[in-house]
Amino acid sequence: MITEEKKEEKSLNFIEEIIEADLKAGKYTEIVTRFPPEPNGYLHIGHASSICLNFGLTKKFPGYTNLRFDDTNPTTEDTEYVESIKNDIRWMGFEWENELYASDYFDTLYGYAIQLIHKGLAYVDDSTSEEIAVLKGTPTQPGKDSPYRNRSIEENRLLFEQMKNGIFPDGSRTLRAKIDMTHPNMLMRDPILYRIKHAHHHRTGDKWCIYPMYDFAHGQSDAIENVTHSICTLEFVPHRELYDWLIAQLEIYPSHQYEFARRNLNYTVTSKRKLLQLVQEGHVNGWDDPRMPTISGLRRRGYTPFSIRDFCDRIGVAKRENMIDVGLLEFCVREDLNKTSLRRMAVLDPLKVVITNFPEDLSETCLSENNPEDIAAGMREILFTREIFIEREDFMEVPSKKYFRLAPGKMVRLKGAYIIQAESVLKDENGEVTEVHCTYIENSKSGQDTTGINVKGTLHWVSAKHGIPVEVRLYDRLFSVENVSSEEGDFKDYINPESLNIITGYAEPALRDAKPGESFQFLRKGYFAADADGTTEKPVFNRTVTLRDNWAKAAEK
Ligand code: ATP
Ligand code: MG
Repeated sequence: MITEEKKEEKSLNFIEEIIEADLKAGKYTEIVTRFPPEPNGYLHIGHASSICLNFGLTKKFPGYTNLRFDDTNPTTEDTEYVESIKNDIRWMGFEWENELYASDYFDTLYGYAIQLIHKGLAYVDDSTSEEIAVLKGTPTQPGKDSPYRNRSIEENRLLFEQMKNGIFPDGSRTLRAKIDMTHPNMLMRDPILYRIKHAHHHRTGDKWCIYPMYDFAHGQSDAIENVTHSICTLEFVPHRELYDWLIAQLEIYPSHQYEFARRNLNYTVTSKRKLLQLVQEGHVNGWDDPRMPTISGLRRRGYTPFSIRDFCDRIGVAKRENMIDVGLLEFCVREDLNKTSLRRMAVLDPLKVVITNFPEDLSETCLSENNPEDIAAGMREILFTREIFIEREDFMEVPSKKYFRLAPGKMVRLKGAYIIQAESVLKDENGEVTEVHCTYIENSKSGQDTTGINVKGTLHWVSAKHGIPVEVRLYDRLFSVENVSSEEGDFKDYINPESLNIITGYAEPALRDAKPGESFQFLRKGYFAADADGTTEKPVFNRTVTLRDNWAKAAEK
């Protein structure tokens, strides 16, 4: 979490400036914000930005944040999504003051609609959606009045009541605000307030067959909850005029809407609709597939709440849309895991090494630090044996000049254990090296080395006798193009066919007890999180992110 000092250092974002000015002017003594997801999918990294912003404001200023489900669209919503959203927000480290549902206001909203009808500011329109679209005009051409626009208040009241009572079929009538069909803002040309939809709602069941439109629910819900600063994304700028108009006509609490730029991440999509398609069509294994930009996917991938908050904090709040590099998100998780994760050794592409002068039946205990960034994490024991595995890429039969890993006649240190020297190799019929035979140097054990030999490379390794097989899921970007939504055609044509690579490696036995979600640094390989799919026979790890390449580079210098 961003520390208080760090927050102090940072200059205020534009929304914080507005709030500070409002508080100074005495407009409010406390502020109320809300995070308003529609429960029609799982939260993604874009939502994380909005969560950090809304909850962050009331950590910084007096006041509180509500969680409000904007559940006015019965056909796409589900309680599964409600539960996942609550879980994700809590996991991110935030707690709402009240859990609210726009659907709880359906009666109140119906009453508001009646009020508008009584004021002569709303009417029932029998036009079809096509007819409404034609009469709406275009941004450069004024619209025309609907033939039903001048119905009497009494007729409107009766028809609206009949709409509510389920007399009419879907789409046959709407309730519209009576504003101005020539208004320069298209959204002010008699916007639809209610539509008929005979559909089951995840909370109100079959009570309603008319449902308010977003524009007639969102601002009204804000007002009912006395939200002071209603923050949404830029596409709602043109809606603000209607937001204010409805609040003024209904004479309800004057909430104010402020807009900030949607956050987009490259090499992925952040739209619930598109993410739902990926799930439904089986391109990924569910909403929490570690390749997904969902909060649940990132969690399963090994991202920490801190790393996501840190990312949102670093990208800040902007007034213009831009694309954020996923590299920044990866940087944030590396930074965090470097401080907190235990170090373990796992060989992902094993090559057998036989140490010919080491006794066959001996298992010698070596010590290695659990986390060099955290001395309190202590040391662990690992067993060294005659046969071990190293990474295939750590041996080269004919080494290049700057190759400081294992090669015939060359020495390397095995992490926490001895210095070894390669003597000879065994090969298969294709000429591929299958075994490297080495000798170890006595008295060279880490921490007790009296040989004075200086080696440049240190390799990770796993005892062939004690190591356990582990399934390792290596992830790459889900899409192979940077800006998916700017590409032509179907976005799914750009899915990276190599976004998942499953391999079996060998790991030190301590990893058998890894708990789902627990993160480790596999030395020289990256950060990996244990997955719930694993068993004690075969644990499963998701690669969160690779290490900065410094290690390999430094070793080769
Ligand atoms: P999607 O297109 O993914 O369905 P949405 O805006 O329809 O997104 P909501 O559930 O309505 O999703 O969003 C809840 C809140 O999160 C809204 O206030 C919305 O503005 C904000 N939000 C959604 N996506 C982003 C994003 N990419 N960046 C910042 N805020 C976002
Ligand atoms: Mg939405």
